[in-house]
Amino acid sequence: MLKKVLIANRGEIALRVLRACREMGIATVAVHSEADRDSLHVKLADESVCIGPAPSPQSYLHIPAIISAAEVTGADAIHPGYGFLAENANFADQVEQSGFVFIGPRADTIRLMGDKVSAKHAMIAAGVPCVPGSEGALPDDDAEILRIADQVGFPVIIKASGGGGGRGMRVVEKKEDLLKSVEMTKTEAGAAFGNPMVYMERYLQKPRHVEIQVLADEHGNAIYLGERDCSMQRRHQKVIEEAPAPGITQAEREAIGQACVDACKRIGYRGAGTFEFLYENGEFFFIEMNTRVQVEHPVTELISGVDIVQEQIRVASGLPLQYAQEDIILEGHAFECRINAEDPYNFIPSPGLIESCHLPGGFGVRVDSHIYQGYRIPPNYDSLIGKICVHGKTREQAMAKMRVAMAELAITGIKTNTALHRDLFADPGFQEGGVSIHYLEKWLEARK
Ligand code: ADP
Repeated sequence: MLKKVLIANRGEIALRVLRACREMGIATVAVHSEADRDSLHVKLADESVCIGPAPSPQSYLHIPAIISAAEVTGADAIHPGYGFLAENANFADQVEQSGFVFIGPRADTIRLMGDKVSAKHAMIAAGVPCVPGSEGALPDDDAEILRIADQVGFPVIIKASGGGGGRGMRVVEKKEDLLKSVEMTKTEAGAAFGNPMVYMERYLQKPRHVEIQVLADEHGNAIYLGERDCSMQRRHQKVIEEAPAPGITQAEREAIGQACVDACKRIGYRGAGTFEFLYENGEFFFIEMNTRVQVEHPVTELISGVDIVQEQIRVASGLPLQYAQEDIILEGHAFECRINAEDPYNFIPSPGLIESCHLPGGFGVRVDSHIYQGYRIPPNYDSLIGKICVHGKTREQAMAKMRVAMAELAITGIKTNTALHRDLFADPGFQEGGVSIHYLEKWLEARK
């Protein structure tokens, strides 16, 4: 088992990883920027190292500083959390070449999945259902692009192979606009991701976002922990997640789960991962794989009882998974609300001093947050300040718990999106379940 883990992240996920390590008797090293000296994970870690000034390129994204911190503290492994360097294959390579364990998949797996065209190729080969579209990157030949679009059927979406975070995509409704849109997306992709390669997919009109959590070890074992529904999004950013996804049958879950497990075995996947799908009219369409722990992993932990971060650490230690597929029994229903320091309706970030903070609690309520009274949220990073999760026997009971939790949550000094969560948990459409990925944007539009 690993003895000392350096946590190359900040905020709630740094705390999440720290807690997992402590429970397992593993020592922890926190790294932090000058802006994060007072962060909770820094205070709670066994050791901490300041790795640079506030801007992330000089701290949380600064690979030599992180590796040096691992060297001076004698850590044996690095957990990247999510965001920052978590899906940077180059970082994973350098960590391993410096003699540390990278708590995540092999660098070449990250590379394979980080390029969407190669990821899609791998998934098609593994038998995972994908959105119909171009077989790989679009060629330079205009006639050929038009032919592919006719075959796929309008509307189509042009996506950058190197894209991420909801950027580098363009929907094309009509043939007349196609070639211009392809050109524009290529130019933007080249500038933003250093890779002008684009591909084409059929644009699904009213899909849901449903994703499958997997775990795999280095002994050939892989399992799925069911699905999450993350359709409640604004600008491709998830706001509320739940597990299981409303209306998904056990047969559907088993079929798609098995396809993901088979793909993991085929590509030699290691650790925790998520297969993201669009789900429409009873069909799953793969869009991408995330090769890291995700923000919304707690909803899966609540219904499965599996500690995903501890399994990541076990796998990185070379141990087999503690669970076989038949050990995974999903129970009840869970929700997660992402609490952001921002205006609830215009989404303008609201960093600053937390004057007072009352977090909810009670049976079936889980809070993952690094904030406390007197903590100052730095303006340099994303606005996520915590996650409130609930677990109930039924979806209705879990919703009731979240309503109570959101009524209790009280943070002053900064703005938070708590009011939006209160509205949504009172919204009949969301209560019914199974809304599409456009629901929240339309809801916000109607509210104006
Ligand atoms: P990113 O890596 O930038 O998050 P994804 O491929 O995961 O990119 O797509 C992000 C979002 O874009 C999806 O959640 C969905 O809302 C939308 N999207 C992507 N592909 C399609 C498609 N073929 N049809 C409809 N919407 C899509």
